[in-house]
Amino acid sequence: METKQSELPNLSELKKVAELLSRSQNTVVLAGAGMSKESGIPTFRGEGGLWTINGEPPLNQYEIFLDNPKQWWTEKFTPTNTDSFATALDQSKPNQGHYALVQLEQLGIISHLITQNVDDLHRQAGQISITEIHGNRYWIRCITCNSRWPKKSITIQQDLLPPICELCNGILKSDTVMFGEPIPPNLLETCHSATQKADLFLTIGTSAIVYPAAQFPIMALEKGIPLIEINPETTPLSEFALISLKGPSGKILPEIIKLISEIHTRKV
Ligand SMILES: [Zn+2]
Repeated sequence: METKQSELPNLSELKKVAELLSRSQNTVVLAGAGMSKESGIPTFRGEGGLWTINGEPPLNQYEIFLDNPKQWWTEKFTPTNTDSFATALDQSKPNQGHYALVQLEQLGIISHLITQNVDDLHRQAGQISITEIHGNRYWIRCITCNSRWPKKSITIQQDLLPPICELCNGILKSDTVMFGEPIPPNLLETCHSATQKADLFLTIGTSAIVYPAAQFPIMALEKGIPLIEINPETTPLSEFALISLKGPSGKILPEIIKLISEIHTRKV
């Protein structure tokens, strides 16, 4: 068992990141599965990941949906054997890392958060400016006009499947992006323009290998925007990061918040 101290990078690195953040008014964050993992949600890839154990979903998942959306929705309403991912999601809560990102947004430092996580935890923590690039498990989306609604705000009639969009008569599906499904272009556009305006880019808990999310830190690097990484493990981005903080975001981010408030106090 590691001691608490060894989970944190050294103080001078944390201070450097706190300094950079305290001077930023336009930090864009790309968050990934590592943040969810710290809230007890199993990851998909890697050792012990759901897909590693159970196999990946079919690569033509979206095509299967489009072929027969009624069948897909009918299965949604049919109770199946316990889905460990669903149970873990329903029981999970935002962790200290999620709350620290909300504080950084409230301080006017983070201008936008791009998340690959579908678990809603950033919203539950209170993050406002957010793009859920792989969707949100608790939302529904129209595949034609890309309008989105929280699931609980709409009633789906089980005898009239698939549900239809009231705005454009398009087919509704779960907002979570399926294998083979294009990411709604409006979401990519939002992430693209946020990254273009960034003065600092932060990747948290993501190996940044899954496209299209991975393009944003690369775009930042190409524009000369400093990249900071927070991850317990080395990733393909680590060597390009100005500072790579090794450790869990739920421990590192609150420490950085403390250091930023010290900087603010000094300036007053
Ligand atoms: Zn629609």
